[in-house]
Amino acid sequence: MSEAWDPRAPCDLCSLPVGIKPFTLTAPEKTFRFCCEGCKGIYQMLHQINEPPAGTADN
Ligand SMILES: [Zn+2]
Repeated sequence: MSEAWDPRAPCDLCSLPVGIKPFTLTAPEKTFRFCCEGCKGIYQMLHQINEPPAGTADN
């Protein structure tokens, strides 16, 4: 599972390029990518996203 992403893809909060090491936030419906931990934290707070605990076998 090596999903490649475009480093120029926009941050889901501020639309800046996320770069080669984006901060990801896994939601049930999709994975969000952010340029920095601050953006991730703000987005998570705004949308009440809780990352599912690792190891849930729902695939
Ligand atoms: Zn950002």
